[in-house]
Amino acid sequence: MSLIVQKYGGTSVGTVERINAVADKLVDWRQRGNDLVVVVSAMSGETNRLLGLANEITPNPTGRELDVLLSTGEQVTIALLSMALAQRGVKARSYTGSQVRILTDNAHNKARIREIDAARVHTDLAAGYILVVAGFQGVDEAGNITTLGRGGSDTTAVALAAALNADECQIYTDVNGVYTTDPRVVPEARRLTGITYEEMLEMASLGSKVLQIRSVEFASKYEVPLRVLSSFEEGEGTLISKEEQVMERAVISGIAFTRDEAQLTITGVPDEPGVAYRILGPISDANIEIDMIVQNIGADGTTDFTFTVNRNDYAKALKILEETAQTLGAREASGNDKIVKISIVGVGMRSHAGIASKMFRALAEEGINILMISTSEIKISVVVDEKYLELGVRALHSAFGLESETISE
Ligand code: ADP
Ligand code: ASP
Ligand code: MG
Repeated sequence: MSLIVQKYGGTSVGTVERINAVADKLVDWRQRGNDLVVVVSAMSGETNRLLGLANEITPNPTGRELDVLLSTGEQVTIALLSMALAQRGVKARSYTGSQVRILTDNAHNKARIREIDAARVHTDLAAGYILVVAGFQGVDEAGNITTLGRGGSDTTAVALAAALNADECQIYTDVNGVYTTDPRVVPEARRLTGITYEEMLEMASLGSKVLQIRSVEFASKYEVPLRVLSSFEEGEGTLISKEEQVMERAVISGIAFTRDEAQLTITGVPDEPGVAYRILGPISDANIEIDMIVQNIGADGTTDFTFTVNRNDYAKALKILEETAQTLGAREASGNDKIVKISIVGVGMRSHAGIASKMFRALAEEGINILMISTSEIKISVVVDEKYLELGVRALHSAFGLESETISE
């Protein structure tokens, strides 16, 4: 008998019909002799609706109350799905995050899972129940409801799979697997049969929102076999696993992109020791995360400095940088929040030269100007003007032959 953790995302449980369809599928899995723990998201649009309600009351709700509000979305789905299962004569029990005891830290709206008490789950499974667990939520030491950040139900599922030592964690969504890039942007994108934890982690970190970043970190750390599949059609989906287990061997596995970027520049800064610290220190002190950093070669005793932050932090970061420019006697602080980041990802990069130049040539051929570049062992990212996002992603997708089934070595 296998123990499987399944997660159904918002669109997969978006209507009563969809919830009934999920229940039918679960009956099937059960009849084939599997133990099942099912994690569900809020019905599609619900989390945004709740955020909208909060926003009508106040632009700054406390994290604690926002979590009490947001967690209700998933509570509706667990109850409805458990009822649908009971209606089919299957024993099922719903659990909120705090009832299962998904213990988190107290960082409201972006809490991290610390520990899962699996005792209750095991007792129920042994008694023949399907467990239906609310995704995206937990409880802190003090008993406050917490939530795990947008897309957090993925992390609930993987963390449960790790804690229960499940045979597989299956993420059911509205696409039938992980694609070479977001199929909504590039219709020619192709489903991958397999991808490594490492690549998936880069893809998620660089903007592919098919899985929450934390869920991939968990899967990788505890080696949870993780599969992304469609809840609308049959299929093998995409298996995310260790490098040796992935058969498909392409140099580039996928292209990720994000619109959540903004760039800040300070020019004419005195070129002396400690300058990077004096520019970036105040930004970090304001809890703003810095992504890419470029410092120009100094000339005439001064230098220029450019970095990127999340677009939500743009206004705040620019204000801080303007103040820094004043104190340092720099020439000017300026910014641009109409930029995006496009990244190519692949473990094959480690053993192949010339990937970067191929990327830059493909962009040049489309007349796309690169504003910033950053590389690591298995990814190359560029920052470009936001108007080139679709064109850039398509050009790279085709330059690296990602749409074709034949894998080039
Ligand atoms: P759910 O509500 O089930 O959690 P999400 O909307 O969070 O679903 O994730 C699925 C979506 O992720 C897809 O509809 C797709 O547009 C998007 N996506 C982004 N990048 C990729 C990719 N590389 N492969 C597949 N889907 C992707
Ligand atoms: N409902 C939450 C969200 O919309 C969590 C999730 O669906 O994973 O972000
Ligand atoms: Mg999601």
